[in-house]
Amino acid sequence: MAEAKERRILYENLDVPGIHTLDVYRKHGGYASLEKVFAIPPDDHITLVKDSGLRGRGGAGFSTGMKWTLMNRQIEPRYLCCNADESEPGTFSNRYILQNKPHMLIEGIIACCWALGIHTAYVYCRGEFTLAKKRLDAAILEAYAAGILGESVAGSGFALDVYTHSGAGAYICGEETGLIESLEGKRGQPRNKPPFPAVQGLFMKPTCVQNVETLSNLPFIVNNGLDWYKGMGSVYTDVPRTAGDPVNTGTKLYCVSGHVEKPGVYEVELGITAQDLIDMASGVRGGNRVKAVIPGGSSAPVLTPYELDCPLDFTSLGLAKSMLGSGGIIVMDETVCTVSALLNLMEFYAHESCGQCTPCRSGTPWVRDITKRIEAGHAKPGDIEQLIDVANQIANVDTFTWNTICVFGIAVSWPAVSFARKFRPEFEAHILNGECTVLPLEEAITPPEQNYAYPRPQVTVVQQPKWH
Ligand code: SF4
Repeated sequence: MAEAKERRILYENLDVPGIHTLDVYRKHGGYASLEKVFAIPPDDHITLVKDSGLRGRGGAGFSTGMKWTLMNRQIEPRYLCCNADESEPGTFSNRYILQNKPHMLIEGIIACCWALGIHTAYVYCRGEFTLAKKRLDAAILEAYAAGILGESVAGSGFALDVYTHSGAGAYICGEETGLIESLEGKRGQPRNKPPFPAVQGLFMKPTCVQNVETLSNLPFIVNNGLDWYKGMGSVYTDVPRTAGDPVNTGTKLYCVSGHVEKPGVYEVELGITAQDLIDMASGVRGGNRVKAVIPGGSSAPVLTPYELDCPLDFTSLGLAKSMLGSGGIIVMDETVCTVSALLNLMEFYAHESCGQCTPCRSGTPWVRDITKRIEAGHAKPGDIEQLIDVANQIANVDTFTWNTICVFGIAVSWPAVSFARKFRPEFEAHILNGECTVLPLEEAITPPEQNYAYPRPQVTVVQQPKWH
């Protein structure tokens, strides 16, 4: 099998000096899509994006075109909220787009707004992204001055205003309705759904919430056409309905961090395996072996070394009872204590729960406290069961149900259950020895035949990334 290769599309020219400015961006083909965009009637544009198979890159992986068809386009005004909060631990690809190619995002925003008849867009930027927001603000001003934004976008007669807004550091404002509440000037607490934002979103008007990477794909789809876009990535058939959409087209910005020699963002066709991506990042530091991989930002259930052949796309990770999420790949080598790793995550989530619903508000610190007891060697037999039980009552990994207002409950529960089940021998060793105990790799992992997520159901592959 051929060696996996990067396929830079969004990240092409990312390192060109001055690419964040309008002049340089244009010299490298920027805003070429505008001519085509306004020649495509909005309904056809929605169909184009739907047929491209583009799925939201922020976490859920929902079909972008399908999301657009759900927008209530009878009500004015409608809004676009670009989610640039990027607060998922292990995720850092959108920041580079904002810093280095802000005009690419503006180009994508224009394409989305044209399709949905939206004349006002907001970009909700993570508060810590000072350089990114400064560059984006400068790019927006340049675009207005050049007639690319404003009363007649590129002379089309279509009006569009774009505003930026800084978050204040809450993880939950990355959840679309938490973001909307925050943008309205309220506490960033997620809303009950339905109604979904497409029906009642910002200021109770139909709103499309879309991630930076998702929007940045649009100019390339418009410029290069359906066949080109659909030719990238992985597609399956015979996928159980529970695993959802079998189409995973395009590239993904995989953020690789942790114990690899060359951490960073790798743009690759969707469907590279975890092992190939680790190899692309020059392998595990110091020649160590992999112990655990979180495949989709810290909310995603962990994979063991037995699961490194899993393609990192929405479908395959769904079949592996994990998820691609934001594409934040966190690699841990054999020196890591998996209980400590879980504790680190649970400390984060216990701090970030917005506190609206009881299972999350009370359950998350409870899971953290049990994990803390195990890690310190103060736990008793039965605490692992209790940890799994409490986590499953927040959101149940086996039945794919949750008892919370938003999917934060899943972000807490699924990693907790996956660590406790997949590295159970190491959790038990902590209790037995009364102290933190890092077991040799072979002993730390639950045998594959007892792994609740293994083997993955077999599906038929009809398209793989190009290097295969
Ligand atoms: S699940 Fe947690 S973060 Fe989400 S609304 Fe409930 S308390 Fe808030």
